[in-house]
Amino acid sequence: MDVNSPRGLVIAIDGPSGAGKGTVSRAIAAHLHYRHVDTGAMYRALAWLARHRGLDLNDAAAVAELARSAEIRCDTVVEIDGHDVTREIRTPEIDRAAALVAQHPAVRDVLVARQRVCGQDGGVVMEGRDIGTVVFPDADVKFYLDASPEERARRRAADAAHAAGRSGAAVEVVARELEARDRTDSTRRASPLARAADAIYIDTTGMAVAEVVDTVLRTIDARLNASA
Ligand code: C5P
Repeated sequence: MDVNSPRGLVIAIDGPSGAGKGTVSRAIAAHLHYRHVDTGAMYRALAWLARHRGLDLNDAAAVAELARSAEIRCDTVVEIDGHDVTREIRTPEIDRAAALVAQHPAVRDVLVARQRVCGQDGGVVMEGRDIGTVVFPDADVKFYLDASPEERARRRAADAAHAAGRSGAAVEVVARELEARDRTDSTRRASPLARAADAIYIDTTGMAVAEVVDTVLRTIDARLNASA
């Protein structure tokens, strides 16, 4: 592994909602001058388009067909088939809809294939639920970020990017929604949220973002030095 190699590393960051994956992945990518790929945004954008088209989200074949034909752009903005959905995909409805479409193996096959293309040249920080287990089981460095359910709910309730469609959602409401989504994501048959055996586990409860970013960067450095 060589952070200065033209290829760059594949860094996988998995974990449940509200564990800090988004903020931390973006900061790591900016620091390393890597691309940041938010795979959750892909499931969210697809769920948004499926609803927009009036599809039955339980119809795996129809949603998979939509996934195959849709053009998805996920960088600083999230676009699907020309619709800028950056803000609209951060609502409680899309939280639920994304977890629903993500349950279908046929849908996952399409999005996982796209995610592999995004990361095939390295130099990428990819965040999600199954990056270290399924998308890139051979990723150079894998992290699993976690936090207590209470802290994750607090963060989610305070997250401005997630405020669309909510009016001052009480932490308890967010906590119940998060718990339901965690259950769906962890118990589904296709690629459930799971910690890869070789992922570095970081409990971010009570840690500031800068502290988590620092820990992740030091771990990457240590890995690089160990393999140099
Ligand atoms: O990470 P985020 O909360 O935006 O993800 C939205 C939903 O997309 C998750 O609840 C999960 O159901 C699904 N997802 C997934 N696999 C990924 C990323 C997200 O199943 N790699």
